[in-house]
Amino acid sequence: MDLVIRNATIAGVARLKDIGIESGSIVKISDRIEPRGHEEINAEGNLVAPGFIDVHMHLDKALTLDRYDWATREIMATPRLTSVNESNKVKRTFTVEDVCERATRIAEMCIVNGTTTLRSHVDIDPVVGLIGMRGVLAAKEACKDWIDIQISPYAISGFDDAPEDAEKLLRQALDMGADLMGGVPEADKDGNSHVDRVFAIAKEYNFDIDFHTDQAQFETPFALPYIAEKTIVEGWQGRVMASHCFGLAHHKPEIRQKAVDLCREADVSICCTPFTTVNERVIEPVEAGVNVSYMSDNIRDTWQPYGNADMLQLALFVARLGRWRSNEDLDHLLEMGSTGAAKAIGIKGGHGLVVGNNADLVVFEAKSGHEAIITQAQKLWVVKRGRVVAQQGELLV
Ligand SMILES: [Zn+2]
Repeated sequence: MDLVIRNATIAGVARLKDIGIESGSIVKISDRIEPRGHEEINAEGNLVAPGFIDVHMHLDKALTLDRYDWATREIMATPRLTSVNESNKVKRTFTVEDVCERATRIAEMCIVNGTTTLRSHVDIDPVVGLIGMRGVLAAKEACKDWIDIQISPYAISGFDDAPEDAEKLLRQALDMGADLMGGVPEADKDGNSHVDRVFAIAKEYNFDIDFHTDQAQFETPFALPYIAEKTIVEGWQGRVMASHCFGLAHHKPEIRQKAVDLCREADVSICCTPFTTVNERVIEPVEAGVNVSYMSDNIRDTWQPYGNADMLQLALFVARLGRWRSNEDLDHLLEMGSTGAAKAIGIKGGHGLVVGNNADLVVFEAKSGHEAIITQAQKLWVVKRGRVVAQQGELLV
């Protein structure tokens, strides 16, 4: 075997196990694997878990804090249009090489923190054109041996201003090597028509869809129910993600319950940044049976000055803000960021500690998922497609 991980704690399994890996896949899980592997890891009873999947990032804009002064920004929760305009100032400085270099740095931060796959949205608009797309595509290629990157181009400024030009540019991006496509209903006056347009294009390309949904924190746009209804009408169940969903927090319990029920029925996944209204956007939908994950979103740019590309840190934010305190809830939280996220974005090859699945794994310096979250455990080893690619915070490849 290429790699054997010995003495592994696996969530839900009573005894320590050895995990055998060959040709990038898990081929055996048993009490004792006799033949030595070409490479060996002794987990010493620590938790071996499926790698994290960060389902929502913005690699094109990340790490641009040095080009932006947050002190001059009006208030933290600015209207969306202000954020777009502020972002546009910085996007004018982008070059393909620059985007690629920053995106690669984020990918490195991800993998050493145990994230083995990420999804990045990419702005497609008249300001940046296809520069972001080219840069992120180059980073995807540069990092392909140690992390998978899904690319989701979207018309961040919508279609209202110049419908034909905006769609033409977006289609160019899709043709360049997108894995799916995104949308943002509130970018246009009629959010439903934006959703309709995105569905029409996505179906033509046979692409999954990821919507930036109801992003305003103090207003009440609510595209989520329409997205879920449209998903059912178009037969796109299991292929749509609703990101952010702040709108859920602005509505009465019975209205948001209806929206959440629609998401479950439409198999629409939700992903959220764990800072405000986590209870309405994460905990309630999870308890109602919706597939929910958490995500980095913007990292150190004009939208958000924070971010370490560390899903374990984000899990702790969800736990604290959502008041999830039991061992069972915390263990489930860890799974939401890995196997749950894998379901949300349609990982091929299977994700999770099951024979036949991809060997995308992380060994935590902890004996359980809840201990890993509570102690913010060191990621001792990270394995991507059966290869050890990071060890204790250092990239090995
Ligand atoms: Zn976003």
